[in-house]
Amino acid sequence: MAETMPNSILYTAFARVPIHFERGEGVRLYTSEGEEYLDFAAGIAVNSLGHSHPHLVEALKNQAEKLWHVSNLYESPQQESLGRRLCENSFADRVFFTNSGSESMECAFKTARRWHHDNGAPERVDIITFEGAFHGRTLAAISAGGSEKYMMGFGPKVGGFEQVPFGDHEALKAAIGPTTAAILIEPVQGEGGIRPVPHQCLRGLRELCDEHGLFLIYDEVQCGIGRTGKMFAHQWVDGAEPDIMAIAKGIGGGFPVGACLASERAASAMTPGSHGTTYGGNPLAMAVGNAVLDVILEDGFLEQVQQRAIFMKQRLAQLADSHSDLLEGVRGDGLMQGLKCKVTNTDVVAAFRDHHLLTVPAGDNVVRLIPPLTLTEEDIQEAVDKMDTALTEMKSAG
Ligand SMILES: *Cc1c(COP(=O)(O)O)cnc(C)c1O
Repeated sequence: MAETMPNSILYTAFARVPIHFERGEGVRLYTSEGEEYLDFAAGIAVNSLGHSHPHLVEALKNQAEKLWHVSNLYESPQQESLGRRLCENSFADRVFFTNSGSESMECAFKTARRWHHDNGAPERVDIITFEGAFHGRTLAAISAGGSEKYMMGFGPKVGGFEQVPFGDHEALKAAIGPTTAAILIEPVQGEGGIRPVPHQCLRGLRELCDEHGLFLIYDEVQCGIGRTGKMFAHQWVDGAEPDIMAIAKGIGGGFPVGACLASERAASAMTPGSHGTTYGGNPLAMAVGNAVLDVILEDGFLEQVQQRAIFMKQRLAQLADSHSDLLEGVRGDGLMQGLKCKVTNTDVVAAFRDHHLLTVPAGDNVVRLIPPLTLTEEDIQEAVDKMDTALTEMKSAG
């Protein structure tokens, strides 16, 4: 393992592990010393097709030789193409491209508020969210998440965001009032500890929004783009389509891309001048996004993700059983699984890393497993073997 950089000039906002990755291939990463790691973190659910996927590399290289940037003052066939494909595969009619999840969320907030403003209810600005949610790190996004840990020291909470406890229907109903604009939820909570929202609850939210004239906003920044075995996680549920949805992470496969998707109605108030972005929808980003969709929309790809997910879940359940002194259980959807720990989750992540398996801690003392969607059963078995060894060592170390 490399030395910690003693004179780093970077903000100390990240507690960085002293490993220097130099290159990646598929599910594997290699350090500058040539050590190999199995990557079940995938850049926090970003490298959806693994590292250095040949189709993505080619798409980026081709676009790089043609055009990098033109600004959103001109028409963009690249945005039209990716936008059309996202809409064809979702509830949406309109797309606004961004560079990150937080920016996609911002666009979602503004879309919801602006519609009410332009349709006779300018007082409807409040967005109801759920405890344990994570929506990004801008001031509005930390206020939407509502976690004290992320808001501490950054001044007053941005107005218009109210959290209710996860799964508390009565609190949710009580929170809806004449100033409510929308309800926002991650169909599978990522950062909060891989907590899937029960299907009937998503349907219930849809009904509640219809009843009160609210927008239903989904944050599928982490759980979208094939992660659960469907293009979008909420598509497992009938009758639970949102009006607005934020995506990012997996759609870029490692290139910074995000988007806010919306129904025609929801997007209708976002008229010229209402919103903007310099880089959002950049041709390089669009080329990579289109290449990611080429692969994910290929016949059989999502079915393969579903099969791998079943295999992974079975193996993890066995692992949790045989290490019931350290693990409480497994939860999650598709290739977005969490190991709920009885010992400190960050110790488990470190123990896995010592065995060259990368995972990510999440809230509620969970270890997150969010590997590239392209992995094989052999990769899963190898990862589970590493976990088994690491947990056995942890146990004997007491
Ligand atoms: C990562 C994440 C975000 C924020 O995305 P950034 O690209 O870091 O701004 C928002 N919502 C969810 C669910 C996420 O996982």
